[in-house]
Amino acid sequence: MIRNYDKLIFELSKEGRVGYSLPKKQVEGGCMCCGIPENLRRESAPLLPEVTEFDVVRHYTNLSNKNFGVDTGFYPLGSCTMKYNPRINEEMAAHPAFTQLHPSMPTECAQGALEVYYNLAASLAEVSGLAEFTLNPYAGAHGELTGLMIMRQYHIQRGDLKRTKVIVPDSAHGTNPASAAVCGLQIVEVKSTANGTVDVEDLKPLLDDTIAGIMMTNPNTLGIFETEIPEISRLVHECGGLLYYDGANLNAVLGKCRPGDMGFDIMHINLHKTFSTPHGGGGPGDGPVGVRAGLEHLLPNPQVKKDENGRFYLQCDEKSAGYVSNFLGNFGIIMRAYTYILTLGRENVKMVGPLAVLNANYVKESLKGEYYLPIEGVCKHEFVFDGLADKSTGVTTLDIAKRLLDYGYHAPTIYFPLLFHQSIMIEPTETESKETLDEFIAVMKKVAQEAIENPEIVKSAPHSTPVRRLDETTAARFPKTTYKQLKG
Ligand SMILES: *Cc1c(COP(=O)(O)O)cnc(C)c1O
Repeated sequence: MIRNYDKLIFELSKEGRVGYSLPKKQVEGGCMCCGIPENLRRESAPLLPEVTEFDVVRHYTNLSNKNFGVDTGFYPLGSCTMKYNPRINEEMAAHPAFTQLHPSMPTECAQGALEVYYNLAASLAEVSGLAEFTLNPYAGAHGELTGLMIMRQYHIQRGDLKRTKVIVPDSAHGTNPASAAVCGLQIVEVKSTANGTVDVEDLKPLLDDTIAGIMMTNPNTLGIFETEIPEISRLVHECGGLLYYDGANLNAVLGKCRPGDMGFDIMHINLHKTFSTPHGGGGPGDGPVGVRAGLEHLLPNPQVKKDENGRFYLQCDEKSAGYVSNFLGNFGIIMRAYTYILTLGRENVKMVGPLAVLNANYVKESLKGEYYLPIEGVCKHEFVFDGLADKSTGVTTLDIAKRLLDYGYHAPTIYFPLLFHQSIMIEPTETESKETLDEFIAVMKKVAQEAIENPEIVKSAPHSTPVRRLDETTAARFPKTTYKQLKG
């Protein structure tokens, strides 16, 4: 039965029903739209639902109940670091001292916000071993593009115009080649070895004077630490290229080892992954980019600087790779990440990686009988199964992901990385308790058993969600986002 308040908000609409009242007009004559030319004024009232405040509250509360987030349950979405977002972060980000600032305010009136920006950039430089950071890019992929723009400018400003190719491992996140293409660079793929790390022998013949640099992720998307970096760094630098570090997986090594010390020249960090700010469904995020000493002037404008009196100001460098955002990044996310770092403190930041690694290995070792583990050994913060160990049932990775929804879990990342046909990528993060992990392990084992004893129930899952299996391609390509589209 459909309850009245389960209906769509437009279907609840009753003419004349209101959920608000505005204060009486306090000035005589005139109206809000006086300055708007006659031909641009609306002739009829907009189509809006006429409902009470209570209807609106129920509408949004019911919608939120159909959603799933880290606040709802376990969210082992590999590569996304869905860790807990401490509530103190929200409190600080919502502080009126920051939220009431206008982005175009003179810098003298926004010293506090600039100080937060400056201090966070300095902390990121410290944990990554690089010289300087910009917080302006809005996401990881945006950071990649910014970093590659810096890489290109570095070569162009030296008059080295031939370097138009960038090397990307076959295990890379899809945004790596995409960012390189948006930046106008050609992509050259380097293969992985059977152990899942970059194949140095495959890399060597690719290196020549057309190579702008290499993009690497460490630990890589298989959750494996790249052990050949000193050699790769030597080879790429010798050929005149730069090393770019995709820092999306920094959670695994935070405070333990630093990309700058490994020889990387440029990197991005996903504040919304490693530094506990809420994300999902496309945003919001922030993708700070750091560079080694000697490349600072290439960072995007404006750059936040501090003078000898401790005052903060904005500087635009002529040689900069350009502008990448309207203002100074997603400030609410910067505020949350800064709070997170200060809350943990220098010592506790070093515990993040080891606990994330411990949790991932615990889940991996507990499940590797039921699920096929293509690369054995200790992983970092995440790992990849290649489907069920017993493939005879015909139950696929998609079926397993859908069945997990019935048990109240978010699905792991599936069919990525592309190195295996049935990839299931699991990242438990450090903030989950052993009890939660044990329950998840039990459910994963149960699903594996169902696949043998009752494969139909897995193949036809989910059974208990608000919507069943969607045509995901059509849903993504032609989403129906308005009431009118939905109804006709
Ligand atoms: C998440 C991720 C990205 C992209 O970051 P966004 O913030 O989603 O744009 C890039 N590389 C890796 C390895 C990632 O996990």
